[in-house]
Amino acid sequence: MTTKTRFAPSPTGFLHVGGARTALYSWLHARANHGEFVLRIEDTDIERSTQEACDAILEGMEWLGLTWDEGPFYQTKRFDRYNEIIAKMLADGTAYKCYCSKERLEVMREEQAAKGERQRYDGCCRDLAPRGSDEPFVVRFRNPLTGSVIFDDHVRGRIEISNEELDDLIIARTDGVPTYNFCVVVDDWDMGITCVVRGEDHINNTPKQINILKALGAPIPEYAHVAMILGDDGAKLSKRHGAISVMQYRDDGFLPEALLNYLVRLGWSHGDQEVFSIDEMIEFFKLDDINKAASAFNTEKLIWLNQHYIKALDPEYVAQHLLWHMNDQQIDMSQGPELTAVVSALSERAKTLKELAQSSRYFYEDFEQFDEAAAKKHLRGVALEPLTLVQTKLAALTEWSQEAIHQVIEDTATELDVGMGKVGMPLRVAVTGAGQSPALDLTMLLIGQARCAQRLSKAVEFVANRVNS
Ligand code: GLU
Repeated sequence: MTTKTRFAPSPTGFLHVGGARTALYSWLHARANHGEFVLRIEDTDIERSTQEACDAILEGMEWLGLTWDEGPFYQTKRFDRYNEIIAKMLADGTAYKCYCSKERLEVMREEQAAKGERQRYDGCCRDLAPRGSDEPFVVRFRNPLTGSVIFDDHVRGRIEISNEELDDLIIARTDGVPTYNFCVVVDDWDMGITCVVRGEDHINNTPKQINILKALGAPIPEYAHVAMILGDDGAKLSKRHGAISVMQYRDDGFLPEALLNYLVRLGWSHGDQEVFSIDEMIEFFKLDDINKAASAFNTEKLIWLNQHYIKALDPEYVAQHLLWHMNDQQIDMSQGPELTAVVSALSERAKTLKELAQSSRYFYEDFEQFDEAAAKKHLRGVALEPLTLVQTKLAALTEWSQEAIHQVIEDTATELDVGMGKVGMPLRVAVTGAGQSPALDLTMLLIGQARCAQRLSKAVEFVANRVNS
Protein backbone atom coordinates (compact mmCIF):
# COMPACT_ATOMS: atom_id res chain seq x y z
CA MET A 1 0.00 0.00 0.00
CA THR A 2 1.32 3.47 -0.87
CA THR A 3 2.13 5.56 2.15
CA LYS A 4 0.01 8.68 2.26
CA THR A 5 0.34 11.35 4.88
CA ARG A 6 -1.19 14.78 5.28
CA PHE A 7 -0.73 18.11 6.94
CA ALA A 8 -4.05 19.55 8.01
CA PRO A 9 -3.67 23.04 9.44
CA SER A 10 -6.57 25.18 10.60
CA PRO A 11 -6.22 28.58 8.92
CA THR A 12 -6.59 30.71 12.02
CA GLY A 13 -3.08 32.21 11.94
CA PHE A 14 0.31 32.04 10.26
CA LEU A 15 2.32 28.84 9.87
CA HIS A 16 4.23 28.60 13.13
CA VAL A 17 7.31 26.54 13.83
CA GLY A 18 5.33 23.83 15.67
CA GLY A 19 3.05 23.35 12.67
CA ALA A 20 6.01 23.47 10.31
CA ARG A 21 7.77 20.72 12.23
CA THR A 22 4.63 18.54 12.14
CA ALA A 23 4.36 19.21 8.41
CA LEU A 24 8.04 18.35 7.95
CA TYR A 25 7.76 15.04 9.81
CA SER A 26 4.64 14.13 7.87
CA TRP A 27 6.29 15.13 4.57
CA LEU A 28 9.47 13.20 5.41
CA HIS A 29 7.52 10.08 6.25
CA ALA A 30 5.79 10.26 2.86
CA ARG A 31 9.01 11.00 0.97
CA ALA A 32 11.00 8.35 2.86
CA ASN A 33 8.46 5.74 1.82
CA HIS A 34 8.04 6.93 -1.77
CA GLY A 35 4.55 7.91 -0.79
CA GLU A 36 2.33 10.94 -1.19
CA PHE A 37 1.76 14.02 0.89
CA VAL A 38 -1.60 15.78 1.06
CA LEU A 39 -2.29 19.35 2.14
CA ARG A 40 -5.70 19.89 3.67
CA ILE A 41 -7.02 23.15 5.03
CA GLU A 42 -9.33 22.55 7.98
CA ASP A 43 -11.44 25.67 7.68
CA THR A 44 -14.76 24.53 9.14
CA ASP A 45 -14.44 27.01 11.99
CA ILE A 46 -15.73 29.77 9.75
CA GLU A 47 -15.51 32.49 12.37
CA ARG A 48 -11.82 31.96 13.05
CA SER A 49 -10.61 30.92 9.59
CA THR A 50 -9.37 33.61 7.22
CA GLN A 51 -8.13 33.76 3.66
CA GLU A 52 -4.99 35.58 4.84
CA ALA A 53 -4.16 32.70 7.15
CA CYS A 54 -4.67 30.21 4.27
CA ASP A 55 -2.34 32.24 2.07
CA ALA A 56 0.20 32.56 4.88
CA ILE A 57 0.22 28.79 5.42
CA LEU A 58 0.67 28.07 1.72
CA GLU A 59 3.42 30.69 1.51
CA GLY A 60 5.21 29.14 4.50
CA MET A 61 4.98 25.63 3.06
CA GLU A 62 6.26 26.81 -0.30
CA TRP A 63 9.11 28.76 1.21
CA LEU A 64 10.16 25.69 3.19
CA GLY A 65 9.89 23.56 0.04
CA LEU A 66 7.43 21.15 1.62
CA THR A 67 5.75 20.29 -1.64
CA TRP A 68 2.42 18.53 -1.63
CA ASP A 69 1.18 15.97 -4.14
CA GLU A 70 -2.53 16.55 -3.59
CA GLY A 71 -4.56 19.52 -2.45
CA PRO A 72 -4.88 21.95 -0.94
CA PHE A 73 -8.29 20.53 -0.12
CA TYR A 74 -10.64 22.82 1.76
CA GLN A 75 -13.07 21.23 4.20
CA THR A 76 -15.65 23.96 3.59
CA LYS A 77 -15.91 22.69 0.01
CA ARG A 78 -16.74 19.17 1.16
CA PHE A 79 -19.95 19.68 3.15
CA ASP A 80 -22.02 17.67 0.67
CA ARG A 81 -19.78 14.70 1.20
CA TYR A 82 -19.96 14.99 5.00
CA ASN A 83 -23.75 15.26 4.87
CA GLU A 84 -23.94 12.24 2.62
CA ILE A 85 -22.04 10.17 5.19
CA ILE A 86 -24.15 11.51 8.06
CA ALA A 87 -27.33 10.48 6.24
CA LYS A 88 -25.85 7.03 5.65
CA MET A 89 -24.90 6.67 9.31
CA LEU A 90 -28.37 7.73 10.43
CA ALA A 91 -29.86 5.15 8.07
CA ASP A 92 -27.65 2.30 9.24
CA GLY A 93 -27.92 3.24 12.92
CA THR A 94 -24.26 4.08 13.58
CA ALA A 95 -25.50 7.59 14.36
CA TYR A 96 -28.71 8.92 15.86
CA LYS A 97 -30.61 12.15 16.26
CA CYS A 98 -30.47 13.70 19.69
CA TYR A 99 -33.25 16.11 20.68
CA CYS A 100 -31.99 16.95 24.14
CA SER A 101 -32.35 20.63 24.92
CA LYS A 102 -29.48 22.74 26.15
CA GLU A 103 -31.26 23.05 29.48
CA ARG A 104 -31.55 19.30 29.89
CA LEU A 105 -27.88 18.80 29.09
CA GLU A 106 -27.01 21.52 31.56
CA VAL A 107 -28.95 19.82 34.36
CA MET A 108 -27.43 16.46 33.42
CA ARG A 109 -23.91 17.90 33.67
CA GLU A 110 -24.62 19.53 37.00
CA GLU A 111 -25.92 16.27 38.43
CA GLN A 112 -22.88 14.39 37.14
CA ALA A 113 -20.59 17.02 38.65
CA ALA A 114 -22.43 16.84 42.01
CA LYS A 115 -21.98 13.07 42.09
CA GLY A 116 -18.33 13.43 41.12
CA GLU A 117 -18.96 11.55 37.86
CA ARG A 118 -17.18 12.21 34.59
CA GLN A 119 -19.25 14.51 32.42
CA ARG A 120 -20.65 12.77 29.39
CA TYR A 121 -23.84 12.43 27.42
CA ASP A 122 -26.13 9.97 29.19
CA GLY A 123 -27.47 8.35 26.01
CA CYS A 124 -31.02 9.60 26.54
CA CYS A 125 -31.84 9.69 22.81
CA ARG A 126 -29.78 6.64 21.78
CA ASP A 127 -32.78 4.41 21.33
CA LEU A 128 -35.59 6.87 20.62
CA ALA A 129 -37.90 6.41 17.69
CA PRO A 130 -37.38 9.24 15.13
CA ARG A 131 -39.59 12.26 15.70
CA GLY A 132 -41.28 14.93 13.62
CA SER A 133 -38.91 16.78 11.32
CA ASP A 134 -39.45 20.31 12.74
CA GLU A 135 -37.91 19.54 16.11
CA PRO A 136 -34.27 20.70 16.39
CA PHE A 137 -31.71 17.95 16.81
CA VAL A 138 -28.01 17.23 16.67
CA VAL A 139 -26.59 14.03 15.23
CA ARG A 140 -24.54 11.91 17.58
CA PHE A 141 -22.22 9.04 16.83
CA ARG A 142 -23.31 5.80 18.50
CA ASN A 143 -20.08 5.02 20.31
CA PRO A 144 -19.68 1.36 21.40
CA LEU A 145 -20.60 0.91 25.08
CA THR A 146 -18.13 -1.83 25.85
CA GLY A 147 -14.61 -2.82 24.87
CA SER A 148 -11.78 -0.43 24.24
CA VAL A 149 -9.87 1.33 21.51
CA ILE A 150 -6.24 0.33 21.13
CA PHE A 151 -3.68 1.90 18.86
CA ASP A 152 0.10 1.81 18.60
CA ASP A 153 1.30 5.35 18.33
CA HIS A 154 4.69 5.73 16.62
CA VAL A 155 5.76 8.22 19.25
CA ARG A 156 3.77 7.41 22.37
CA GLY A 157 3.62 3.64 22.07
CA ARG A 158 0.55 1.53 22.83
CA ILE A 159 -2.51 3.45 23.94
CA GLU A 160 -5.71 1.87 25.19
CA ILE A 161 -8.88 3.80 26.02
CA SER A 162 -11.98 2.12 27.36
CA ASN A 163 -15.16 2.91 25.43
CA GLU A 164 -16.81 3.70 28.73
CA GLU A 165 -14.65 6.79 28.82
CA LEU A 166 -15.91 8.01 25.48
CA ASP A 167 -18.98 10.06 24.71
CA ASP A 168 -21.53 9.79 21.97
CA LEU A 169 -19.82 12.51 20.01
CA ILE A 170 -21.89 15.14 18.19
CA ILE A 171 -21.10 14.80 14.48
CA ALA A 172 -23.57 17.39 13.16
CA ARG A 173 -24.80 20.45 15.02
CA THR A 174 -28.39 21.72 15.18
CA ASP A 175 -27.72 23.90 12.13
CA GLY A 176 -26.61 20.80 10.23
CA VAL A 177 -22.93 21.78 10.16
CA PRO A 178 -20.69 18.72 10.62
CA THR A 179 -18.22 18.88 13.50
CA TYR A 180 -14.49 18.96 13.38
CA ASN A 181 -13.69 15.40 14.53
CA PHE A 182 -16.15 13.99 12.05
CA CYS A 183 -14.78 15.92 9.05
CA VAL A 184 -11.25 14.75 9.87
CA VAL A 185 -12.42 11.15 9.83
CA VAL A 186 -14.21 11.42 6.50
CA ASP A 187 -11.26 13.25 4.97
CA ASP A 188 -8.62 10.83 6.20
CA TRP A 189 -10.73 8.02 4.82
CA ASP A 190 -11.57 9.63 1.46
CA MET A 191 -8.01 10.83 0.96
CA GLY A 192 -6.59 7.39 1.67
CA ILE A 193 -4.37 8.59 4.52
CA THR A 194 -2.28 5.70 5.83
CA CYS A 195 -0.49 7.58 8.58
CA VAL A 196 -1.68 10.57 10.61
CA VAL A 197 1.17 12.70 11.93
CA ARG A 198 -0.05 15.54 14.15
CA GLY A 199 0.47 17.40 17.39
CA GLU A 200 -0.08 15.56 20.65
CA ASP A 201 -2.85 18.02 21.52
CA HIS A 202 -4.99 15.81 19.24
CA ILE A 203 -4.28 12.54 20.99
CA ASN A 204 -7.61 12.61 22.85
CA ASN A 205 -9.44 12.84 19.54
CA THR A 206 -7.84 9.70 18.18
CA PRO A 207 -9.96 7.02 19.96
CA LYS A 208 -13.15 8.87 18.96
CA GLN A 209 -11.97 9.10 15.37
CA ILE A 210 -10.96 5.44 15.30
CA ASN A 211 -14.43 4.39 16.49
CA ILE A 212 -16.08 6.40 13.73
CA LEU A 213 -13.69 4.98 11.14
CA LYS A 214 -14.56 1.48 12.33
CA ALA A 215 -18.28 2.22 12.13
CA LEU A 216 -17.78 3.35 8.53
CA GLY A 217 -15.83 0.22 7.69
CA ALA A 218 -12.85 2.41 6.84
CA PRO A 219 -9.23 1.31 7.31
CA ILE A 220 -7.57 2.67 10.44
CA PRO A 221 -4.43 4.70 9.69
CA GLU A 222 -1.28 4.61 11.76
CA TYR A 223 -0.72 7.51 14.14
CA ALA A 224 2.23 9.57 15.32
CA HIS A 225 1.50 12.28 17.88
CA VAL A 226 4.36 14.72 18.09
CA ALA A 227 5.21 16.43 21.40
CA MET A 228 5.11 20.17 21.90
CA ILE A 229 7.86 22.69 21.34
CA LEU A 230 8.83 24.76 24.36
CA GLY A 231 10.62 28.08 24.52
CA ASP A 232 14.17 28.15 25.91
CA ASP A 233 12.67 28.97 29.32
CA GLY A 234 10.65 25.74 29.37
CA ALA A 235 7.25 27.40 28.80
CA LYS A 236 5.08 26.53 25.79
CA LEU A 237 6.54 28.28 22.76
CA SER A 238 4.78 31.56 22.16
CA LYS A 239 5.30 34.95 20.58
CA ARG A 240 6.99 36.10 23.73
CA HIS A 241 9.98 33.91 22.77
CA GLY A 242 10.52 35.92 19.62
CA ALA A 243 9.70 34.78 16.12
CA ILE A 244 7.48 31.75 15.84
CA SER A 245 6.03 32.37 12.42
CA VAL A 246 7.93 30.59 9.67
CA MET A 247 7.84 33.68 7.47
CA GLN A 248 9.28 35.77 10.30
CA TYR A 249 12.35 33.54 10.08
CA ARG A 250 12.56 34.33 6.39
CA ASP A 251 12.30 38.04 7.22
CA ASP A 252 15.00 37.69 9.88
CA GLY A 253 17.40 36.24 7.32
CA PHE A 254 17.23 32.49 7.76
CA LEU A 255 17.53 30.02 4.91
CA PRO A 256 14.79 27.38 4.65
CA GLU A 257 17.50 24.67 4.78
CA ALA A 258 18.62 25.95 8.18
CA LEU A 259 15.11 26.09 9.60
CA LEU A 260 14.26 22.62 8.26
CA ASN A 261 17.50 21.18 9.62
CA TYR A 262 16.82 22.85 12.93
CA LEU A 263 13.23 21.61 13.09
CA VAL A 264 14.05 18.04 12.11
CA ARG A 265 16.49 17.78 15.01
CA LEU A 266 14.05 19.37 17.41
CA GLY A 267 12.51 16.15 18.63
CA TRP A 268 14.22 13.62 16.37
CA SER A 269 17.76 12.32 16.15
CA HIS A 270 19.95 10.04 14.11
CA GLY A 271 23.02 9.21 16.17
CA ASP A 272 24.73 12.46 17.04
CA GLN A 273 24.55 13.96 13.57
CA GLU A 274 23.49 17.61 13.61
CA VAL A 275 23.68 18.70 9.99
CA PHE A 276 21.30 17.03 7.55
CA SER A 277 20.74 17.80 3.92
CA ILE A 278 17.15 17.28 2.80
CA ASP A 279 18.21 14.04 1.09
CA GLU A 280 19.78 12.80 4.30
CA MET A 281 16.66 13.66 6.27
CA ILE A 282 14.61 11.62 3.81
CA GLU A 283 17.09 8.77 3.99
CA PHE A 284 17.31 8.55 7.78
CA PHE A 285 13.97 9.81 9.07
CA LYS A 286 11.83 7.32 10.99
CA LEU A 287 8.69 8.17 12.92
CA ASP A 288 9.70 5.67 15.59
CA ASP A 289 12.78 7.75 16.36
CA ILE A 290 10.78 10.86 17.30
CA ASN A 291 11.24 11.85 20.94
CA LYS A 292 8.36 11.50 23.33
CA ALA A 293 9.46 14.45 25.45
CA ALA A 294 8.78 18.06 24.54
CA SER A 295 11.74 19.89 23.01
CA ALA A 296 13.03 23.32 23.85
CA PHE A 297 13.71 25.87 21.13
CA ASN A 298 17.27 27.09 20.95
CA THR A 299 17.82 30.14 18.78
CA GLU A 300 21.62 29.96 19.09
CA LYS A 301 21.63 26.57 17.43
CA LEU A 302 19.38 27.78 14.65
CA ILE A 303 21.78 30.67 14.01
CA TRP A 304 24.71 28.26 13.97
CA LEU A 305 22.96 26.14 11.34
CA ASN A 306 22.07 29.21 9.32
CA GLN A 307 25.68 30.31 9.28
CA HIS A 308 26.66 26.83 8.20
CA TYR A 309 24.23 26.83 5.26
CA ILE A 310 25.13 30.36 4.15
CA LYS A 311 28.72 29.11 3.83
CA ALA A 312 28.04 25.61 2.55
CA LEU A 313 25.28 26.04 -0.03
CA ASP A 314 25.91 27.04 -3.61
CA PRO A 315 26.41 30.85 -3.62
CA GLU A 316 24.12 31.14 -6.59
CA TYR A 317 21.30 29.54 -4.58
CA VAL A 318 22.04 31.66 -1.49
CA ALA A 319 21.98 34.73 -3.74
CA GLN A 320 18.40 33.93 -4.78
CA HIS A 321 17.34 34.12 -1.15
CA LEU A 322 19.55 37.13 -0.50
CA LEU A 323 17.84 39.02 -3.29
CA TRP A 324 14.65 39.13 -1.22
CA HIS A 325 16.56 40.94 1.55
CA MET A 326 18.28 43.30 -0.87
CA ASN A 327 14.84 44.35 -2.07
CA ASP A 328 13.48 44.42 1.45
CA GLN A 329 16.29 46.79 2.50
CA GLN A 330 15.78 48.80 -0.68
CA ILE A 331 19.37 48.46 -1.78
CA ASP A 332 19.70 49.87 -5.28
CA MET A 333 21.44 47.12 -7.23
CA SER A 334 21.40 48.85 -10.61
CA GLN A 335 25.20 49.27 -10.43
CA GLY A 336 27.58 46.83 -8.79
CA PRO A 337 28.79 43.26 -8.82
CA GLU A 338 26.90 40.02 -9.38
CA LEU A 339 25.10 39.13 -6.17
CA THR A 340 26.62 35.63 -6.27
CA ALA A 341 30.10 37.14 -6.02
CA VAL A 342 29.02 39.18 -3.00
CA VAL A 343 27.70 36.03 -1.34
CA SER A 344 31.02 34.28 -1.92
CA ALA A 345 32.90 37.25 -0.48
CA LEU A 346 30.74 37.75 2.61
CA SER A 347 29.45 34.28 3.45
CA GLU A 348 32.16 33.60 6.03
CA ARG A 349 31.08 36.57 8.08
CA ALA A 350 27.29 36.58 8.12
CA LYS A 351 24.99 34.89 10.59
CA THR A 352 21.89 35.79 8.62
CA LEU A 353 20.99 36.95 5.14
CA LYS A 354 19.60 40.11 6.66
CA GLU A 355 23.06 40.89 8.03
CA LEU A 356 24.65 39.87 4.75
CA ALA A 357 22.42 42.29 2.85
CA GLN A 358 23.19 45.06 5.34
CA SER A 359 26.91 44.59 5.00
CA SER A 360 26.81 44.42 1.21
CA ARG A 361 25.33 47.86 0.71
CA TYR A 362 28.67 49.58 -0.09
CA PHE A 363 29.16 47.26 -3.08
CA TYR A 364 26.13 48.87 -4.70
CA GLU A 365 25.55 52.28 -3.23
CA ASP A 366 27.87 55.16 -2.40
CA PHE A 367 27.88 56.24 1.21
CA GLU A 368 27.54 59.76 2.48
CA GLN A 369 29.83 59.46 5.45
CA PHE A 370 32.62 57.30 6.77
CA ASP A 371 31.91 55.31 9.88
CA GLU A 372 32.86 57.72 12.64
CA ALA A 373 35.00 55.42 14.76
CA ALA A 374 36.77 53.93 11.74
CA ALA A 375 37.52 57.36 10.28
CA LYS A 376 38.80 58.64 13.59
CA LYS A 377 41.19 55.76 13.83
CA HIS A 378 42.33 55.32 10.24
CA LEU A 379 41.71 58.50 8.27
CA ARG A 380 44.22 60.61 10.13
CA GLY A 381 47.08 62.78 8.88
CA VAL A 382 49.48 59.85 8.67
CA ALA A 383 47.16 58.22 6.14
CA LEU A 384 47.49 61.02 3.63
CA GLU A 385 50.71 59.83 2.06
CA PRO A 386 49.78 56.14 1.71
CA LEU A 387 46.34 57.06 0.40
CA THR A 388 47.68 59.45 -2.23
CA LEU A 389 50.32 57.00 -3.40
CA VAL A 390 47.94 54.07 -3.55
CA GLN A 391 45.49 56.31 -5.40
CA THR A 392 48.02 57.06 -8.11
CA LYS A 393 49.08 53.45 -8.47
CA LEU A 394 45.49 52.19 -8.64
CA ALA A 395 44.60 54.78 -11.25
CA ALA A 396 47.45 53.49 -13.40
CA LEU A 397 46.23 49.89 -13.36
CA THR A 398 45.18 48.66 -16.77
CA GLU A 399 43.91 45.39 -15.43
CA TRP A 400 41.53 45.46 -12.44
CA SER A 401 42.24 42.05 -10.88
CA GLN A 402 42.60 40.86 -7.34
CA GLU A 403 46.31 40.11 -7.89
CA ALA A 404 47.02 43.52 -9.40
CA ILE A 405 45.23 45.33 -6.56
CA HIS A 406 47.09 43.27 -4.02
CA GLN A 407 50.39 44.10 -5.69
CA VAL A 408 49.61 47.83 -5.59
CA ILE A 409 48.95 47.71 -1.84
CA GLU A 410 52.13 45.75 -1.27
CA ASP A 411 54.24 48.05 -3.47
CA THR A 412 52.89 51.13 -1.70
CA ALA A 413 53.80 49.69 1.70
CA THR A 414 57.27 48.74 0.49
CA GLU A 415 57.87 52.11 -1.12
CA LEU A 416 56.88 54.00 2.02
CA ASP A 417 58.58 51.44 4.21
CA VAL A 418 55.47 50.87 6.36
CA GLY A 419 53.47 47.77 7.32
CA MET A 420 50.65 46.63 5.01
CA GLY A 421 48.11 47.69 7.63
CA LYS A 422 49.18 51.31 7.39
CA VAL A 423 48.07 51.28 3.78
CA GLY A 424 45.30 48.70 3.99
CA MET A 425 43.28 50.11 6.85
CA PRO A 426 42.90 53.68 5.55
CA LEU A 427 42.22 52.23 2.13
CA ARG A 428 39.54 49.93 3.51
CA VAL A 429 37.77 52.78 5.28
CA ALA A 430 38.12 54.88 2.13
CA VAL A 431 36.47 52.38 -0.21
CA THR A 432 33.93 50.69 2.10
CA GLY A 433 33.24 53.49 4.56
CA ALA A 434 33.87 51.12 7.47
CA GLY A 435 36.63 49.33 9.32
CA GLN A 436 35.60 45.82 8.38
CA SER A 437 35.27 44.00 5.11
CA PRO A 438 36.35 40.78 3.43
CA ALA A 439 39.89 40.69 1.98
CA LEU A 440 40.60 44.16 0.68
CA ASP A 441 41.78 43.14 -2.81
CA LEU A 442 38.60 41.09 -3.33
CA THR A 443 36.40 43.82 -1.88
CA MET A 444 37.93 46.41 -4.20
CA LEU A 445 37.69 44.09 -7.18
CA LEU A 446 33.95 43.83 -6.58
CA ILE A 447 33.45 47.54 -5.93
CA GLY A 448 35.12 48.28 -9.26
CA GLN A 449 37.93 50.58 -10.37
CA ALA A 450 35.92 53.74 -11.07
CA ARG A 451 34.02 53.60 -7.82
CA CYS A 452 37.17 52.90 -5.81
CA ALA A 453 38.85 55.89 -7.45
CA GLN A 454 35.94 58.20 -6.61
CA ARG A 455 35.80 57.06 -3.02
CA LEU A 456 39.55 57.36 -2.61
CA SER A 457 39.45 60.98 -3.80
CA LYS A 458 36.76 61.66 -1.26
CA ALA A 459 38.87 60.08 1.48
CA VAL A 460 41.99 62.00 0.49
CA GLU A 461 40.00 65.20 0.61
CA PHE A 462 38.57 64.21 3.98
CA VAL A 463 42.04 63.60 5.44
CA ALA A 464 43.47 66.75 3.90
CA ASN A 465 40.66 68.82 5.42
CA ARG A 466 41.26 67.25 8.75
CA VAL A 467 44.99 68.00 8.60
CA ASN A 468 44.31 71.63 7.65
CA SER A 469 41.65 72.29 10.22
N1 GLU B 1 -6.51 21.12 12.09
C1 GLU B 1 -5.79 20.59 13.21
C2 GLU B 1 -4.86 21.64 13.74
O1 GLU B 1 -4.52 22.59 13.04
C3 GLU B 1 -5.01 19.33 12.87
C4 GLU B 1 -5.87 18.13 12.92
C5 GLU B 1 -5.23 16.86 12.51
O2 GLU B 1 -4.06 16.89 12.08
O3 GLU B 1 -5.90 15.86 12.58
O4 GLU B 1 -4.44 21.54 14.86
